[in-house]
Amino acid sequence: MDVLIIGAGPTGLMMAAELKRYGIDFRIIDKSKGPSEKSKALAIQARTLEIFQMLDLDEAFTKKGLALNRMNIFSQNGPIGSVSFQGLASPFPYVLSLPQSETETILNDHLGNLVEREVELTGIEQGDDHIRATLSTGESVTCRYLIGCDGAHSFVRKHLGLTFIGKSFPSVFSLADVTIDWSHPHEEGSVFWHPSGVLAALPLPAKNTYRLIFELPRCQMPSQANEDNLKVDIPAPTLEEVQEMVRERADKEATLSSPDWLANFHVNSRLASNYQKGNIFLAGDAAHIHSPVGGQGMNTGIQDAFNLAWKLAHVLRGKADNKLLETYHLERHAFAKKLLKGTEKGTYIAALKRSWQITLRNFFAKHILRTQESQRKIPRVISQIDLSYPNFPYDGKFARGPKSGMRLPHYKELLPHLKDLQEHLLILFSTDPKPFADLPCTLVNITRETDTTGELHEAFGAESGAAYLVRPDGYIAYRQTPAQPEKLIEQLKKFTYSGKL
Ligand SMILES: Cc1cc2nc3c(=O)[nH]c(=O)nc-3n(C[C@H](O)[C@H](O)[C@H](O)COP(=O)(O)OP(=O)(O)OC[C@H]3O[C@@H](n4cnc5c(N)ncnc54)[C@H](O)[C@@H]3O)c2cc1C
Repeated sequence: MDVLIIGAGPTGLMMAAELKRYGIDFRIIDKSKGPSEKSKALAIQARTLEIFQMLDLDEAFTKKGLALNRMNIFSQNGPIGSVSFQGLASPFPYVLSLPQSETETILNDHLGNLVEREVELTGIEQGDDHIRATLSTGESVTCRYLIGCDGAHSFVRKHLGLTFIGKSFPSVFSLADVTIDWSHPHEEGSVFWHPSGVLAALPLPAKNTYRLIFELPRCQMPSQANEDNLKVDIPAPTLEEVQEMVRERADKEATLSSPDWLANFHVNSRLASNYQKGNIFLAGDAAHIHSPVGGQGMNTGIQDAFNLAWKLAHVLRGKADNKLLETYHLERHAFAKKLLKGTEKGTYIAALKRSWQITLRNFFAKHILRTQESQRKIPRVISQIDLSYPNFPYDGKFARGPKSGMRLPHYKELLPHLKDLQEHLLILFSTDPKPFADLPCTLVNITRETDTTGELHEAFGAESGAAYLVRPDGYIAYRQTPAQPEKLIEQLKKFTYSGKL
């Protein structure tokens, strides 16, 4: 067998969906009985939806979820500002709210009965060109690659001796999934910065239901959490306690009912020292955990899987050298490092308690949120459509257009070519396609006749002819203007580390 996936949370399920699409021989095991029953991650970001769109799964998600158009921030004295997602340059200009239990169910159903449930990984032996995994069933499995998608307490990470570097936040946070009768619109998220603690209210799809995340003064004691102890022993909040807190921080008239989940949790911000050791990889929470600020965790795990899967498939199909797999750590570890910094900052800012700090924060936040640049940039960062990989090459002078390393924008004319993409995609603008015809790429030729309004030529800075080489995960590997086949072949060889095509 080629690949053994450990864990069928969102990351492992995405990895399995991708390997299945590429026709790779794999197995996926999980020690649990079925998909998570807890709502856990709610926010599905635009970039994740774009990926689901490439797999023709987007509608399964959008028809079940609730589109959140806006996030508002309030202080004790009234509105601070808000961020709208409606202008986002994506087919999904919103954050989709959907409980993780539903996300896992959709992915699980898409896979059919492939997940082997109630099977735990208990041992790993790493040989030169194979791995032997021991399972709780007593079976010994030999595979070429093993992917640890086994969550924050990852057995795989510990077995590899990789450190989970980072810290635990001193405060304990609480959550409540409840029904609220109050004055705030249901399709907008709200954050209330209050001196006694922060409160975030994220709408759930069912009418008037919300996920609340908040700090309770009684839970603020020094943290005992460390890498092996991410659980909290403080009693969970009660509905009465949560209602009192919501009335104090958000709406004096709010009435809460039907509590579905009440719990406390520590915020940890940790990153595995490496995402790869030999032919074993880490992805998702096994590789990074952080504050829920911005709803990034599950999205990042799903995108880890999307980044690694095509590379594994190309190596296993003999289209790329094993060295290509090293780019997985380079790209995803660097992104997670930035993400951890951003979510740590966001958590500290939201949880400030001293009055001078609160005054300064509120003053600057009000001004920053009024600028056009913030209104453009913040939704792009949260939605992860701004995520790009650095140092990708280009040739020629482009006046505009998406740079190498960025995602290919999902223009409707390009969408059919992105669906079920398994090779590199070569998009030519106003260029004779013949010299490019033999390349192992899916070729798209955009001419002045097909691009009648000239919108695509303009958007891609391709007025003098150009070539965009797009990886199977939708990121631009290389662009050149004008298009020249020799240089392009050279670059394609470099990307696959194969030396031949
Ligand atoms: C309250 C809360 C709110 C959150 N909100 C958001 C949000 O809004 N947006 C967001 O993006 N993220 C959010 N997150 C984070 C998100 O839930 C995680 O990032 C996500 O679950 C990670 O998915 P994963 O597949 O990597 O790991 P997990 O979901 O932890 O899955 C790991 C799987 O591995 C299995 N497993 C473990 N060990 C073994 C073994 N030895 N053998 C076999 N199977 C094993 C487990 O049974 C489990 O099914 C939130 C988390 C919490 C707790």
